[in-house]
Amino acid sequence: MFKKILIANRGEIALRIIRTARELGVKTVVVYSTADEKSLPVLLADESVCVGPPASNASYLNIPNILQAALMTGAEGIHPGYGFMAENPDFAEMCREHGLVFIGPTPESMRALGSKAGGREIAANSNVPVVPGTGILPDLDAAVLAAKQIGYPVLLKASAGGGGRGQKIIRTQDELKKGFAQAQEEARLYFSDPDLIMEKFLEEFRHVEVQVMGDGTGHVIHIGERDCSIQRRNQKLIEEAPSTLPDSLRQEILAAGVRLAQHVNYAGAGTLEFIVDRDGNYYFMEMNTRIQVEHCVSEMISGLDLVRMQLEIASGHGLNMKQEDVVLRGHAIECRLNAEDPDKDFRPAAGKIDDVHFAGGPGVRVDSHVYTGYVIPPHYDSLIGKLIVHHDNRAEAIARMKRALEETVIQGPKTTIPLYIKIMDNPFYKRGAVMTNFLKTRMDM
Ligand code: ADP
Ligand code: ADP
Ligand code: MG
Repeated sequence: MFKKILIANRGEIALRIIRTARELGVKTVVVYSTADEKSLPVLLADESVCVGPPASNASYLNIPNILQAALMTGAEGIHPGYGFMAENPDFAEMCREHGLVFIGPTPESMRALGSKAGGREIAANSNVPVVPGTGILPDLDAAVLAAKQIGYPVLLKASAGGGGRGQKIIRTQDELKKGFAQAQEEARLYFSDPDLIMEKFLEEFRHVEVQVMGDGTGHVIHIGERDCSIQRRNQKLIEEAPSTLPDSLRQEILAAGVRLAQHVNYAGAGTLEFIVDRDGNYYFMEMNTRIQVEHCVSEMISGLDLVRMQLEIASGHGLNMKQEDVVLRGHAIECRLNAEDPDKDFRPAAGKIDDVHFAGGPGVRVDSHVYTGYVIPPHYDSLIGKLIVHHDNRAEAIARMKRALEETVIQGPKTTIPLYIKIMDNPFYKRGAVMTNFLKTRMDM
């Protein structure tokens, strides 16, 4: 096991990694920007190194400073968390060149899976269905032809896109002709890569994803699936495990996820995202080659510590589990506590937290880096914590979540808590009849 690791992230995920590291006796170094000087991870890590000013580009994405911090403090590995450097194969490669272990998959598999075009190709080669669509579109003519074959509406996606950004719905040929060059330009601007792919735009579906863990030699297990259909602007708000899909379909999707990860000899934790339509067709969307925000629901139903498994695999201890050893129990739900105003189109609400009290009691877990007096910096995303519950079955988990939400007090910024309380009471949600358009169709948002 590592003696010391560096955490190249902030907020709740930095704290999450520190917690497991401490339990394993692994020393931690956390990097931070000047905006996060007073953050909990900085207070709780064994060491901390300031790597730049608030802007992510100058700090959490500042590769030279992060590598320097790792070398200076004698860290053996770097855990990237999610976002920032987590899916940057160049960074993983530079870690390797500097004798540091990147706690994640190899740069080669990140590269292969990192783009939406690459992911679709690997899926096709491992006999996993993908949404009707294309590889990289060379030009507008190819796009027009493809859209004719696929049928409108279509979705233009930045091949290098992520975080729910870089997507454009196209409903007519006219829109395509007008929007194609601009979409390329935006992709180039935001993801440093103008490549676009096209997919059939599906109006109604569930987002179901498979958590896998691989040892890098072809041994891959799954730790169940998660349903993440409650989203706003293509970003997840509520996740649960297991999904409410019929068991035979679940097993098929789980097997598809494992097959794809095996195909690339995947190492570490990864998530395969699928779209499941009303008729039970499922399509691979993309693989996230990192720990996921919502990994906690999988931990709750499996009793496993996914960050610990990441550290074990990265430090050479391998994956000492077979599929039969994974026993899933009960039902878990996670609500992402965002400092946002749901009544004002989820506008971010930065500022000071005047008072905070988190829920507790049986089956409740809180992963949060905020405390009374903490000032939410405006430079990063609006996630201020995650409330996770576990119970024997879905109905009981919903009741427990409602109780825990009502118990939670966050004074100061607006949060998504009042919205979640309403969702827990929604009859469609309670029935598990939830598609990604839930907020629009069932909550009038
Ligand atoms: P998850 O897929 O783990 O559920 P998200 O897809 O919402 O979570 O992404 C996790 C975090 O990483 C979010 O804070 C998101 O804003 C950020 N993120 C994801 N992809 C990118 C990207 N390509 N560029 C910048 N930030 C990203
Ligand atoms: P990202 O890398 O930004 O997470 P994804 O391909 O995973 O990109 O898509 C993000 C979200 O966008 C999905 O969770 C889903 O809600 C929506 N989406 C993706 N593909 C399609 C599609 N073909 N049709 C309709 N919605 C889609
Ligand atoms: Mg995605």
